[in-house]
Amino acid sequence: FDRMRTLGDVARYHAEARPDAVALVFEGRETSFADFDRHTNQVANALIAAGLKVGDRVAYVGKNSDHYFELLIGAAKAGVVTTPIGWRLAAPEIAYIVGDSEAKLVFVGPELIGHVEAVAAELTHRPVVIAMEAEGAGEHRTFEAWRDAQPDTDPMTPIKTSDIAIQLYTSGTTGRPKGAMLTHDNMLAMRREAALRPLDWNQWGPDDVSLVAMPVAHIGGTGWGLVGLFNGAKGVVAREFDPTKVLDFIEKDRVSKMFMVPAALQIVVRLPRAREVDYSRLSHILYGAAPIPLDLLRECMEVFGCGFVQQYGMTETTGTVVYLPPEDHDPAGNTRMRAAGLPMPGVEIKVIDEAGNSVPAGTVGEVAIRSLANMAGYWKLDEATKKTIDADGWLRTGDAGYLDEDGYLFIHDRVKDMIISGGENIYPAEVESAVYGHPHVAEVAVIGVPDDKWGEAVKAVVAPKPGVTPDAADIIAFARSRIAGFKAPKSVDFVPALPRNASGKILRRELRAPYWEGRERQVN
Ligand code: ATP
Ligand code: MG
Repeated sequence: FDRMRTLGDVARYHAEARPDAVALVFEGRETSFADFDRHTNQVANALIAAGLKVGDRVAYVGKNSDHYFELLIGAAKAGVVTTPIGWRLAAPEIAYIVGDSEAKLVFVGPELIGHVEAVAAELTHRPVVIAMEAEGAGEHRTFEAWRDAQPDTDPMTPIKTSDIAIQLYTSGTTGRPKGAMLTHDNMLAMRREAALRPLDWNQWGPDDVSLVAMPVAHIGGTGWGLVGLFNGAKGVVAREFDPTKVLDFIEKDRVSKMFMVPAALQIVVRLPRAREVDYSRLSHILYGAAPIPLDLLRECMEVFGCGFVQQYGMTETTGTVVYLPPEDHDPAGNTRMRAAGLPMPGVEIKVIDEAGNSVPAGTVGEVAIRSLANMAGYWKLDEATKKTIDADGWLRTGDAGYLDEDGYLFIHDRVKDMIISGGENIYPAEVESAVYGHPHVAEVAVIGVPDDKWGEAVKAVVAPKPGVTPDAADIIAFARSRIAGFKAPKSVDFVPALPRNASGKILRRELRAPYWEGRERQVN
């Protein structure tokens, strides 16, 4: 593992160690590590031939594909930075990121071609469009034709491990997405450390099969895909998250490890077929990126019967920095199961007050992280970078939480989402977890709404399960039986479904907006 210093080395290393092993599977197309290495050389050569230099950017707008990983690693071999962009975004949002990143080439999936042509025409720097697939390619070259026109020899471009490898935009849950610049070291240094530790859940063998079902525009998709490649596993790439296909992949492709966000797990576990599938090959489900209701976690543990590992992290920390191992998942309800977990190797955590001073164990504050995987900074946002990472390398997460006596991190929620009601601090995730267990509730989000007496009052917005007649008073009583009365919702509104972004995160600011019209919400 020590030889994997840059993203390009990941392809080189496994091509030498296990050339015939399958690196990626996508809709019946299998690519061996030897071919993956050759293809990434061709991508690098094509970018160099197009005049791109170390530090230049290209963008990818599309659903998941094996070719995305060829682009990412191939570009990295030429020192070119890939920016994946969420395919669910609207045209102006795509335009903003393509423009902001100054991508010289834009690689586009078939679903988005029309969209991106319109975007490219508007941009002053006129990026070249390359179609990922023949379908709908029109005048544009296709990725394969563009790649295969090049020699498959390694260009051996000199790359520093501190060079930027990928520019990944944050999910945009709290505002406009910011381009986090992640270096080769960010992507690999912590992985190398982790691979050398006896973390049982992080052991990978030649038979491991990893499912990449979360969107690659987010760290949960790209990061997880890279973890599999780094460990030499076979990566099954799902074009998009499709719950029944997840079960098919588990059965037919014999998936052994997968990462999913709680919102996706919830959909899969509730499929009637989920209780009939053979999970004997599935060793671990890694979950994270948003708080998980305890009842959902218990349900998943019962149905899938494999090891569960929580992951906490963010785009700015290159994904996972904290993990909760399977041993701490005790469905009998020990408090550890509510934790986000322990720092990954090489990660330091502290919890700070508003003045930036560390607070003692058990005290809630803002979580700060220092690690080898902290981003180099936000692209073109120096002020925001300075506010986020201090001179000593501590990165403020914007999340509220505390450390217990044993060093376990408990994440409450985002600082900005905290509700102050009658002087008490209330974290929506805890209330959501309580309400979620009600038999009529399919999904729930908790927000603070203006209240003349309490400042803010706790409101639950509930998407009921199909075919039930939910009762607000009953849901409030249920919550009061599980958490302190002052935390329980004062009111419940019903909606057909909750607004979420592509990372599965509830957009609480959207839910809050109508209640706060014309008023300013105080956040500390
Ligand atoms: P933006 O920064 O643009 O508002 P975002 O913060 O949602 O978007 P990401 O970097 O994808 O973008 O998400 C990181 C955030 O996800 C964390 O700051 C935290 O709030 C949440 N999160 C991640 N893992 C967990 C977890 N295990 N439990 C609870 N929350 C989590
Ligand atoms: Mg964030």
